[in-house]
Amino acid sequence: MLKYTNTAGKPCKWYPVCPMKRFFEEGKLDTKWIAAYCLGHWERCIRYQMEESNRYHPDHMLPDGSLDESLV
Ligand code: SF4
Repeated sequence: MLKYTNTAGKPCKWYPVCPMKRFFEEGKLDTKWIAAYCLGHWERCIRYQMEESNRYHPDHMLPDGSLDESLV
């Protein structure tokens, strides 16, 4: 069971529609990303920051901004 690593006790507002959630549920993404960002400090997520400012970012971009070609 995943636990929140933030004090807000809620996930990133984009989590329900974020490809990271889908990749995680498909077993393609390490739990650490979800724990650290989606259920943690989402404001540090590059995807989040780009979403907030309407900047394009590919589905295979990880929360730290790096690209994971295995997710293409
Ligand atoms: S990857 Fe980033 S934008 Fe997507 S749900 Fe997680 S914190 Fe939010």
